[in-house]
Amino acid sequence: MTTVLGCIADDFTGATDIAGLLARSGVRVSLRIGVPEGPPRDTAAFEVIALKSRTAPVGEALAETRAALRWLQAAGAQRFFWKYCSTFDSTSEGNIGPVAEALMADLGTDQTIYCPAFPENGRSIFMGNLFVGRQPLAESPMKDHPLTPMRDSNLMRLLAPQVTRPVGLVDRLCVADGAEAVRQALGRLQEQGITHAVVDAVAMSDLDSIASACRDIPLMTGGSALAAPLPALYIAEEWLAPDATAAAPPRLDAGAVVLSGSCSAMTQAQVAAYLRQGHPACRLDPLELAETGAGPALDWLARQDLAKAPILYATAEPASVAWAQERLGVARAGRLVEDTLATCAVAARDAGACRIIAAGGETSGAVTQALEVARLNIGPEIAPGVPWTFCTSGGRQIALALKSGNFGTEGFFSDAQSRLAQA
Ligand code: ADP
Repeated sequence: MTTVLGCIADDFTGATDIAGLLARSGVRVSLRIGVPEGPPRDTAAFEVIALKSRTAPVGEALAETRAALRWLQAAGAQRFFWKYCSTFDSTSEGNIGPVAEALMADLGTDQTIYCPAFPENGRSIFMGNLFVGRQPLAESPMKDHPLTPMRDSNLMRLLAPQVTRPVGLVDRLCVADGAEAVRQALGRLQEQGITHAVVDAVAMSDLDSIASACRDIPLMTGGSALAAPLPALYIAEEWLAPDATAAAPPRLDAGAVVLSGSCSAMTQAQVAAYLRQGHPACRLDPLELAETGAGPALDWLARQDLAKAPILYATAEPASVAWAQERLGVARAGRLVEDTLATCAVAARDAGACRIIAAGGETSGAVTQALEVARLNIGPEIAPGVPWTFCTSGGRQIALALKSGNFGTEGFFSDAQSRLAQA
C-alpha cells in the first residue's frame, strides 16, 4: 500500500506513542526501528520510523533524519510529520530546529508548524508558553533533566537559537476560531516571511482545528497528539484507500513476561500493584548482577510457569538507584540491568512467552534490540501513548508492549494482558 503519511520520531518510545495514536483510527500503522535497509516493502498507509536522535550530535541527527525522509518518500509519502517530545526536549544547538529546517529544505517547503501540545497528558501551549500540568515547563521536573534541561517555557525563545529563519506564533485566540482561522493566520505569517510557526493548543479540540488547517502541508512538527486527527481527515479527503484498515491481531499462546527497568514514579507504583496481585517476581539488583551476571535471573525464569506472567524488575526507589550508581557508575549500573532484562526477554521468548511487556524507554530499546525486531505492527492501545505491537522475533509471532517510564496507570501490567485477551 502507498504510504500517505511518513512520520519520523526522535526516540523509540516516542515512535510507539505516535504510532499508537494514529492506530486509534483503525488504519494500519507500521513502525520501523531505524531507517530500514533496502527499498520499502509491504508498506502501510502510515509508516513511522523510530530514530535515536534526540540527543545525538546535530550532524548525525540530520543525516539519519534525511535518510528516513528518503525512505518514506520512496514508500510514496507526500506528507511528513517530525515527532519530538511533548516537553520539547532539546538543547540550544538542537535537534528539533535543525532537523525541521533540513526536512523543509529537502521537501522544498518554506513553512512548518511546531505544536508539542498533548492536553490529554497535561501538555498545553498558551501564548507560546508550554505547560506541564499546571506548571510552566521551566518550573516542571524537566528543568532538571540530565540531558536536556528545559530552563525556558517559551517555545519561540527555545526554537529561535536552533533555526536560521524567523519564528512566529499562531495564538490560542486564533486557534479557538477554528481551522480556517488557523489557515489564514499561517498565510499571513508566511507573507511576513515567518518560516517557523509555533501554534497554541490547550484542548484536544484545538489539535483537531490545527490538524485540519495543516492536513495538506508537506511537513508538520510536534508531539504525537497533533497527528491523532490526521487519519480521519485523510479518510474524509479520500487520500486513504478503503482497505487500509489494520489486520486482525495474530493468535498468540498464553505465556507472558514483564520486564521492568524503569525507576520512574509511575513504574514503581505499577510494579508494586503487580506484586500485590501475587505474580511470581524476581527482583534484580545491579550490585548483585555485577557479581553474578544474568545467570541467576535466567535460572529463576527457567523455573517459572509463563502462564502466570512472571515479572523481573530492577525498578527501585531513588536512594537505592543512587547507591548502585555510586558503587558502579551510572552507565554500568544501567547497562547491567538493561543487558540482563534483554537476555531474559530472549530466554522467555524461546521458552514460549508470546507476550512481552517492557517498562522503561532505554529498557524497551535494549529488549527490542535483543529480540532483533526491525518492524512492529501497531495493535490495540493499552494506555494513551502505549499500544500493543506485533512482530516477528526468532521466527515466532510475538506481541510487545513498550512503555516509557511515566506512562500508564497503576494497573498497567495486568491491564495490558487483559487488553490483548479482548483484542
Ligand atoms: P524510564 O523510561 O523510566 O526513564 P529507562 O529504561 O529509560 O526508564 O531508564 C531507566 C534506567 O535506569 C535504565 O538504564 C536502567 O537500566 C536503569 N536502572 C534500572 N534499575 C536500576 C537500579 N536499581 N539501579 C540503577 N539503575 C537502574
